[in-house]
Amino acid sequence: MNASEDDETLVCPGCNSTDVIGISYGYPGPEAYAASGRGEIKFGGCRIMKNSPDWYCKACRCSWPDPERIKQSAKVEQMPVSRAGSRKKEQDDG
Ligand SMILES: [Zn+2]
Repeated sequence: MNASEDDETLVCPGCNSTDVIGISYGYPGPEAYAASGRGEIKFGGCRIMKNSPDWYCKACRCSWPDPERIKQSAKVEQMPVSRAGSRKKEQDDG
């Protein structure tokens, strides 16, 4: 039996390299710093935007967003936002 290749291997859309690492957002912890030092992840900044890149190719230095995340964030935006506990405007009576 041959070990099947990992289907989830990411390939760079620009150069077809598999030297692809994830981009981490938010405040990095010590583990993230260590991983970054090993070249396993890249820091993208504090905030992740809808079209922020998720993946970075070390071969050609391009980055691109994850199509699945874009889909999901689009879904979230389409969902109606229920505003629980809407604030009542207090009337200031003199
Ligand atoms: Zn590339």
